[in-house]
Amino acid sequence: MSYSNAQPKRAVAAESARPFRVHTQRNLDRIDALRGLSEDRRFAMKVVSTVLPFRVNDYVIEELIDWDRVPDDPIFQLVFPQQGMLSERHFDRIADLLRAEAAPATLDAAVREIRAELNPHPAGQLESNLPKLDGERPLEGLQHKYRETVLFFPSQGQTCHAYCSFCFRWAQFVGDKSLRIASNEASGLHAYLRQHSQVTDLLITGGDPMVMKTRHLEAYLEPLLRPEFDHVQSIRIGTKALTFWPQRFVGDADSDQLMALLERLVAHGKHVALMAHTNHWRELETDTAREAIARLRATGAEIRSQGPLLAHINDDPEVWTRMWRTQVRLGIIPYYMFVQRDTGAQHYFEVPLVRAWEIYREAIQGVSGLARTARGPSMSAGPGKIEIQGVTEVAGERVFVLRFLQGRNPDWVNRPFFARFDPKATWLDDLVPAFGEDRFFFTDEYLTRWPSAQAARIESVHAPEPALPEASGL
Ligand SMILES: *Cc1c(COP(=O)(O)O)cnc(C)c1O
Repeated sequence: MSYSNAQPKRAVAAESARPFRVHTQRNLDRIDALRGLSEDRRFAMKVVSTVLPFRVNDYVIEELIDWDRVPDDPIFQLVFPQQGMLSERHFDRIADLLRAEAAPATLDAAVREIRAELNPHPAGQLESNLPKLDGERPLEGLQHKYRETVLFFPSQGQTCHAYCSFCFRWAQFVGDKSLRIASNEASGLHAYLRQHSQVTDLLITGGDPMVMKTRHLEAYLEPLLRPEFDHVQSIRIGTKALTFWPQRFVGDADSDQLMALLERLVAHGKHVALMAHTNHWRELETDTAREAIARLRATGAEIRSQGPLLAHINDDPEVWTRMWRTQVRLGIIPYYMFVQRDTGAQHYFEVPLVRAWEIYREAIQGVSGLARTARGPSMSAGPGKIEIQGVTEVAGERVFVLRFLQGRNPDWVNRPFFARFDPKATWLDDLVPAFGEDRFFFTDEYLTRWPSAQAARIESVHAPEPALPEASGL
């Protein structure tokens, strides 16, 4: 392994010629690399991917996964379905239906029911009050939760080059159109930004916006160079393409055009940041990934990294220390360590909050100040991004010390608050205020000012279950 930033042109040229070929649940049987796995393991993959989305491409299979270390290989766990990702009850139900070659309608009904139980809309994902234009027309594909930053979900970016097995937006990838949040309306985005001069940051997200053709990205971003958008200082693009398809920045037909677009935005004074989703240092080791990073940085864009802490993938301080060190060496700025959200396969990937804090602390202690720009572990919850600052004792009570990194009300940010220590807690919902108090300092205001955020969440948890056909035998 070398940390060199030099560009091995020949390897990259060969990689650029690789066609983009994806595999999904339908052709699991045709993935050569899986032939060496047991029949049981392959059947389990089929069962799990009947419920949760699955998509992988040849680059991930051939360049990132160490097949000698399967099933423990972290990248294998990151993309391939594993039995434990479904509860035993859910797994057995689907396994029985597949073995019995149940009618498609019966299988679909069971799948829909299970998905509805997996909290498909975690807090803040879908809210009943969309941002409105002229205070009237609701805007699809826009989310405006924090004063200074608007999230935009372009409709051409509604997939990824591969799927993460722990994705918190998994629901939009399973084919149910009502779960999608997307807009193909560049004009709506621009009108909204024009009307909201407090917005300094635009964050393009998805899916992965980097699956879009450059000409679509241009349609959204180029107009922001006009003086009327001077208040939009920063353009962030959330992506996992550096991991799943770095060819996007190197050899794809329109990657030169993409670099030119980023250069233009930078030259006009915008701060352009690729928010790279990374979970393991291994993702950054290939020649193509290194070349992509070098090319992106040459445009003047910054690359910041963020990603969740996950059992089976990176619940080890050494993995984070090495990842953050590698990133600093490559010019990537560590940004967030997230806590895995309360959705989908959470029970498989979850790490207790106390352990998350220990891992963060040990990892941070192992790096220099340049990598301590990574904040966390942070929960993106309804009221805001809440960081676990540590565990300590106050007035004889063991407590979590918490703070908002980002809040519905900006005034909540950076006020320390306390929750009763609970070694098993994995999410904000598990925490109760310390010192016998019955609510956190923000609770009343949150419930009063943002009731729709609550409603969206409650509806998704208690979604009516679709009726099963009479004779399903379940
Ligand atoms: C994280 C996040 C942002 C950006 O917050 P920063 O603290 O500026 O990184 C904006 N909107 C939503 C909904 C977010 O989750």
